[in-house]
Amino acid sequence: MTNLKNPPKTKHKIIQKFLDQSESDLKLALKGKQIPKGEGLFGESREFIVFELAKALNQNTDTLNTAQQANDLLMLMFRDAKEDLSVETMIQAMTLCLHGFVFGNYNEEDFRFLYRYSLRYIRRQAPIEKWLRKAIVYLVAVNNESGKEILAEVRYWIQFLGAPFFMPSLFSEVGNELGIDIQTEIDGEKFRLVDAVTRHPQYLKEAVQDMTFLESFEGLKDWGPDVIQLQLLKMKKKKVYERAQEKIDSGMSVNDSVKAMKQVFVKDKFRTNKQTVLPIRLQELSSPPPGEAVDPVIFELIPQKLRMDLLPSVAYSTKTKKIEIIFLGGPRIGRSGIIIKTDTGGILLDFGMSVANHRIPEWVPELEMIDTVLISHSHLDHVGGLPILFEEFSGKWCSVGPTGGVTKILLDDALKIGTPFPPRKHDKHDLISRFNETNVQKVTKSHVKLEYGKSNEVGPGIVVTPIDACHIPGSAAYLIDIEGVKILYTGDFNMDKSALFPGANLPTDADYVIFDGTYWAREDFDRSKVREQFSKTIASHGPVIIPSFAVGRSQEILIMLDELGITKNRNVMVTGMAERVTKMVGVTGNWQSMKKNRIHLEESDVLVAGGGMMSGGLARHHFNEQRNNPKAAVMPCGYMAPRTPGWNLLHGYEPHECTVEYARLSAHSSATNLEAYIKSCKGKRIMVHTPFISQAKGIMIPKYKERIVIPT
Ligand SMILES: [Zn+2]
Repeated sequence: MTNLKNPPKTKHKIIQKFLDQSESDLKLALKGKQIPKGEGLFGESREFIVFELAKALNQNTDTLNTAQQANDLLMLMFRDAKEDLSVETMIQAMTLCLHGFVFGNYNEEDFRFLYRYSLRYIRRQAPIEKWLRKAIVYLVAVNNESGKEILAEVRYWIQFLGAPFFMPSLFSEVGNELGIDIQTEIDGEKFRLVDAVTRHPQYLKEAVQDMTFLESFEGLKDWGPDVIQLQLLKMKKKKVYERAQEKIDSGMSVNDSVKAMKQVFVKDKFRTNKQTVLPIRLQELSSPPPGEAVDPVIFELIPQKLRMDLLPSVAYSTKTKKIEIIFLGGPRIGRSGIIIKTDTGGILLDFGMSVANHRIPEWVPELEMIDTVLISHSHLDHVGGLPILFEEFSGKWCSVGPTGGVTKILLDDALKIGTPFPPRKHDKHDLISRFNETNVQKVTKSHVKLEYGKSNEVGPGIVVTPIDACHIPGSAAYLIDIEGVKILYTGDFNMDKSALFPGANLPTDADYVIFDGTYWAREDFDRSKVREQFSKTIASHGPVIIPSFAVGRSQEILIMLDELGITKNRNVMVTGMAERVTKMVGVTGNWQSMKKNRIHLEESDVLVAGGGMMSGGLARHHFNEQRNNPKAAVMPCGYMAPRTPGWNLLHGYEPHECTVEYARLSAHSSATNLEAYIKSCKGKRIMVHTPFISQAKGIMIPKYKERIVIPT
C-alpha cells in the first residue's frame, strides 16, 4: 500500500520519543497485548499513530478500536458525507490523518482537504487553528532540523493551506511544547520588525521611520501580512514623491524630470531589490511637468475607453530602459498572475484565485503601480483575484469576446456560494477579505473589450495584440511589444482540434514566450475515443448525467452530443450556470434548457450540468438520486481535484450501482502538440501553469516572485 521502509528519524527529542513509542506500541499490539493508556502529542489516543504506522507497514490493525472509529469518521469526512461534527471529533480525525501523512499513507492534498473542510463546517475556528499550528510544526520538524528551516517550511504550509496569517511568535510557543527551538530565530534581527508591526499595527509608521523602503520591505516581505506591506508602501511612496517634487520645476522637460526623480528614488532606496527602482510616475506628483504630445499613430492604438484614464501616463511616457517580468503566481496551476514592469508603470497578465485554497498571487509593491490588467480568459484561476485588486485599483481590465460577461457570471456565483470561505473573509489583515460585492461591481464596471488581431496601446509604450487561444470561448493569448521587445503570453491555450475550435495558431518569433504547460510530458488526449464513449454509454443507459465545468467544457460536450446526433433521439438538457454561460458565449444547438419545475430525471434524459468535480449543484443532486439505479450512467470528464466528490467516485470511495464512465478531456494542448510548438519557438521559453516539477531542457520554470530583467 505505501512504501514505508523505515519510520522517519528526527533530532527533536520529544518527537523522536513519540515515534519510538509508536514502534514499541505496535509490537505490543501485534502480540495481541494492550497498548498502555495515555495520550499522544495532540491529546489523542496512543492508538492513533500505531494505527497509521501499522497501515504503512501493511500490518493488521484489527485490535485498535479507538483508532478504527476515528478512521471511519475520517473516511466520511473525505466523502463529505458528515456535516454535524464537533470541533473535538474533527480534530481527532485530522490528527489521525496527520500521523498517516508522516508515514506516507496520505498526501498534502488530503491534509489540505481536511483543513478546508473544517473551514466549511466549523464556525469556531480558534481550536482548529491552535491545533493546526502545532500540526504544521510537528510535520515540518520530522524532516527539518534548524529553527530557520522549520520556519521557512511553516510559511510554505500556511500559504499552501490558505490558512490565515499567524504571528510568528505563536509558533515559538508550539516549538517549546514540542521541544524545538524556534524562539532563537524569531528573536533574531530578521523577525524584529515583523514582530513589532504584527503586535502593534497602529505603530507601523513609528516602527519604520528610520528605515528606507527597501530595508523595511526586506524586513516584512516574508512574514508581514500583505495589508501591512501595502500600508508601508503607501507611506513611503508619499514621502519619496514629496522629496522628488522639490527637485522638479515647471520648466523642466519630461525626460529631465524623470532623471531627477530617479536620483531621488535611488538615493531613498525606493526599490524592491538591488537592481531596479520602483516605476517613476510623473502623474503622481502634486504638480507634474507638462506632458509631451502623444504620437497620433499611438493615440489611435489606444482603445476609446482607455484613453481618458491613460492619457496622463501616455503623455508622460519616456523610453523604457528596462523591462522586468515578475512571476506572482509562480510555476503552479491555481493563481495565475504575472507583472510586466516598465520604468513608468506596467501591465498585469491575469490575476487568479486558487480554487483549492482561495489564495491570490503573491503581493509585490509593483502591483500597486500598474495601469492595465490583461485577462486571458474567464476561469477563476485567471480572473478570480480581480475583486481584491480592484479595492484600490482605478485602472481598467481588458479581455476579448464574451470573457467580460462570463467573468461577471463567474464572480457573482463565487460570491453566492461563499468563495472564499470564512473566517479569512473577516480577517482584515488578509487581502482575501476584499473579495466582496462592492469590489465585484467595480470589476464589472471597469472592463474594456479588445478584439482578436487588433493592436492596442494599453499602457505607456506597451502595444498588445490578442490572439485566439482556443481554450474556451473568448480565451486570448497576448503578444506584447514594448520598445521592440516581444513577449508572448499564451494564457491557457489549446493547439488540439476540438468540437469548439480548430486549434490555436500562435506566433513563434517572440523574444520571450510564457506558456501554459498543464500537460507537459503527459499522456495525449484522444477526442475520437471520447466520442465513442459518449455514443456507446448514452445508447445503453438512461438517464445519463454529465457533470462538467460550466465555462468551456459544457459547451464542447453539447456540441459533441449535437454532432453525434444524440440531441435528436434523446432529451439533452443543460442547466444552471452551464446554461447561462452557453447562452452568453452564443453556442447554439439542438438541446433544451431544463425546466425549472423538473426535479427528477427520466430515462430518456441526458443532463449536462455544471460542477465538474461534483462538489455541489445539480450534478451532485442528480447523481445522489440515481446512484443506485443500474440503468443510469454518470460520465465525469476532465480534471478532478483530489478528494472532491468526483475524485472519490472515480477512486471507489462513493458506493453506487449506476455505471460510471470517465471521459478524459481537456481544454489544454496535448503534450505532443505543445512540445512541437514550444520547440519551434525562437525566443526564451518560460513554463508556468504546470504540475511538471522536474527540469525541462532549455525551459525556465519560475519560482514565486522570481524576476527576469530585460534591457531594451
Ligand atoms: Zn483555463
